[in-house]
Amino acid sequence: MCYLSTRGSAPELDFEGATLAGLASDGGLYVPAAWPRLSPADIAGLAGLSYVETAMRVCTPFIGQSLGEAELRAILTAAYASFGHAATVPLKALDERHWLLELFHGPTLAFKDVAMQALGGLFETFLGRTARQLTIIGATSGDTGSAAIHALAGRDRVQVFMLHPRGRVSEVQRRQMTTVLSPNIHNIAIDGTFDDAQALVKAMFNDRGFAARFDLGAVNSINWARLMLQIPYYFHAAVRLGAPERAVSFAVPTGNFGDVFAGYAARAMGLPIERLVVATNENDILHRALSAGDYSAGQVAPTDSPSMDIQVSSNFERLLFDLAGRDGTACAGMMAGFEARKALAIPGDQQAAAAAIFASERVDADAMRQALRWAATQCGEVIDPHTAVGLAAARRQATGTTPMVTLATAHPAKFPDAVERACGIRPALPAQARGLMDREERYSTLPAELAAIEAFIADRAAPRLAA
Ligand SMILES: *Cc1c(COP(=O)(O)O)cnc(C)c1O
Repeated sequence: MCYLSTRGSAPELDFEGATLAGLASDGGLYVPAAWPRLSPADIAGLAGLSYVETAMRVCTPFIGQSLGEAELRAILTAAYASFGHAATVPLKALDERHWLLELFHGPTLAFKDVAMQALGGLFETFLGRTARQLTIIGATSGDTGSAAIHALAGRDRVQVFMLHPRGRVSEVQRRQMTTVLSPNIHNIAIDGTFDDAQALVKAMFNDRGFAARFDLGAVNSINWARLMLQIPYYFHAAVRLGAPERAVSFAVPTGNFGDVFAGYAARAMGLPIERLVVATNENDILHRALSAGDYSAGQVAPTDSPSMDIQVSSNFERLLFDLAGRDGTACAGMMAGFEARKALAIPGDQQAAAAAIFASERVDADAMRQALRWAATQCGEVIDPHTAVGLAAARRQATGTTPMVTLATAHPAKFPDAVERACGIRPALPAQARGLMDREERYSTLPAELAAIEAFIADRAAPRLAA
C-alpha cells in the first residue's frame, strides 16, 4: 500500500514511511492511495475471532511489505495484553436498540490506548531496523498524551515532548502523564488552549530549520497508523451484531475527527455501516460543518468532556480530501483558505455526499447529563461524559431496528467529578490506575510561544543523523 498527502505535493511513502513521518512535508496528512476492500465473505470470516486476529485481517492490507505477519501479530498481541478485560473491547447491551463498545480497558482508561499501545510497537520495530532516534512532538487535550506516554515510556529510540493546556485537563489525566518519570518523557504545560498547543506542534513541523535538525514524529491522530489501528473495532463490533448481513450504526464522541474517520474507513472497506453519528459537545464546528456546510472555528468553550473541546479538527482534512474527489491541489487550496480565514464553506454537493454517511448532533451539558443519568438508572451502566455525549446523539438518531453502537471512549473514573455531578455516583479507579494520586509528578511550564518551546526541545532531543 502506498500513501499520498491530502495536499498532493509531498513524496508518496510506504506504510513504514508514513508511520514515521506523521505530518506530510507539504503540510498535508497521509492517506492510503486507495481503500482496500473486504468482501462480505471476508467480513463473515471475522465471526468469533479474537480482537488480535480481527486486527490482523483488517490492518494487513494497509501494511503491505512493511511488516511480516509474525511481526504484526507480535506487536498486536503485546499491545492488547496490557488491557484489563479479557474481551479487549467488550460490547454491552443497554436496551433492545442501543449498545456500548467499551474501548477504555487499556492502561490509561481511554480509547486512545487501543491504537497507541500498538503504535509504540510499530515505532520500536521500524526504528530498530535503523539507527534513527525519533523525536515525538505532540499536543494533547488529555487522553492522547497519557496514552502516548504510557505506550512510549522507556522505549530506547524515542524522545517524547507532550504539550498540554495548563489547567484544562482533569487531575487524573494530568497525573497519568506527569507521574511517568522515564527520562525519555518530557511533559510541557503551556499557558493556552488545546488549539494553541496543536497549532504550536504544526508550526514546529512546518519550521524547516527546526524540523531539519531532528527526526520529528507524531502520535496525534495526524499519524495514519493510529487511525488504521482504530478501524478493527468497528468490524469486531459490527460482526457481533450481524454484519455483513445486517447493517449497524455507530455514534462517536468526536473532537479531532480521528475516531469517526476510522469508522468512515471501515465503511469504505465494505463494512455495512448505515450511519456514523458525529457527536459534539458545545464546541460544535463539526456539527455546523456537516449539517450546514459551515466549517468555521469559534472560541473553545471548556466543558465536562475536555477531550472534545476542540475547534479545529485536524482529521477533517482527510474527509475533505475524499469529498473533493481526492484532488490534492483542490484540498490544499481549501486548507490554505481555512488557515487564512479560520472559515471554510463546504460546497453543496460535497455536503450532500457527506450527509449520505454522516449525521451529526450538538449535545449541550443538560443533554449530556440526561444521557448519563439514563444509562445509570435505566441500564445500570455508569458512563463518562464523553460517552454520554455520544449516547445522547445516538438516542436522537436511532431509527428502525438498526443496532446503534455508542463508542465508550473513556472510563468514568477518569472524570469522577463530572460523573458524580450528573448521576450522584462517584466511580472508583480500576485496579490498573490505583496509586495514581500519590505518585510524584514532573513537568515544565512554558508560554505558548514557538521560540520558547523549540529551545526547550532543542536542549533535550537527539539531533538527526547525517544522511
Ligand atoms: C480523544 C477523545 C475523543 C475524541 O476523539 P477524536 O478521535 O479526537 O475525535 C473522545 N473521547 C475521549 C475520551 C477522547 O479521549
